[in-house]
Amino acid sequence: MAARGAESEFDRFLRLSKQIGTDILKTQGAGGNTSLKDGDTMWVKASGTWLAQAGERDIMVPVRVAPLVEALRRGDPRAEKATDFVITALNTSGLRPSIETSFHAALPSPVVAHYHCVNTIALSVLKQRDEIFRTKLEAAGMKWATVPYRRPGTPLARDVDLAAESNPDVLILYNHGIIVTGETVEEVADRIERVTAALTLPARQVPDADIGALQQLSQDSSYSPAADLASHQLALVPENIRLATGGSMYPDHVIFLGTTVGLLKAGQSLPSYLERFADKGQTAPKMIIVSGCGMLLSNELTPGGQVMARCLAEVVARIPEGADVVYLTEADEYELTNWEAEQYRQALDRGART
Ligand SMILES: [Zn+2]
Repeated sequence: MAARGAESEFDRFLRLSKQIGTDILKTQGAGGNTSLKDGDTMWVKASGTWLAQAGERDIMVPVRVAPLVEALRRGDPRAEKATDFVITALNTSGLRPSIETSFHAALPSPVVAHYHCVNTIALSVLKQRDEIFRTKLEAAGMKWATVPYRRPGTPLARDVDLAAESNPDVLILYNHGIIVTGETVEEVADRIERVTAALTLPARQVPDADIGALQQLSQDSSYSPAADLASHQLALVPENIRLATGGSMYPDHVIFLGTTVGLLKAGQSLPSYLERFADKGQTAPKMIIVSGCGMLLSNELTPGGQVMARCLAEVVARIPEGADVVYLTEADEYELTNWEAEQYRQALDRGART
């Protein structure tokens, strides 16, 4: 048994991964991923697994770095899923690497943490984002870069690769999240703490949800009031409703909850609202805002889907009142909903955590 003092860098890496994975303001469900490089071998979180499971379950997959980076730069499609670069002999879990593996490989730092920090997302969807990040990160003394929105996978990895040329410690991924890099786990942990302090925003206060009214509205339907009470803040003040229904803000929301956030106005019945979708042959929204009352979620949602409702609630609550938001375009949404690599992560989500 190793004494605490003899903790290896890999142990520290798992510990940091778990810490990131158990903070709802940093990671929601299977989102976020970490990596540790040892020479040309990189251990990266497996697709569909939860960072919160680090240290309890075998969730890190070994990948060869140099050929993957070469494939990414050459435009070789095998860089997308990175499965051809897995070191099979060391891959005890047999899982696939994260769909974000190629950008971990492209970053030269030995330790890389990427997560969907709700404060970063809230700032990175604002029209004024360039100026905001410059001010906040310069004041915090960080070496940073911003990366425009790209679909996760090789399109994003190629832009991360370009941004890495200036050797930043922190990369802000617009409409997506954050990457923090460093030489050691300790250095990354310290930078995470500093960048979190620099980017933290206050959450808008809201009144309590009316769970009784939500229960009554959703009786005998395939929807239920959100079990996580913090998810209801989306529906409880007009500004949060405006922001949430204005469009899609970041990829994981689209992937898990689709592109439509439902809105049930006061006095409207749920069956008549849902009929409108059925009449048009459209899928009903997985989440429905009941204005001034709270959130209804489809009973079909997995825990991974439910936690995305909480994520949106936390992001929206931190966007300043009246702010102009840059939403994903229809083309961005289409690209996310028709993406083969994602089907695997969602299949794992359905099977793994029920
Ligand atoms: Zn991500």
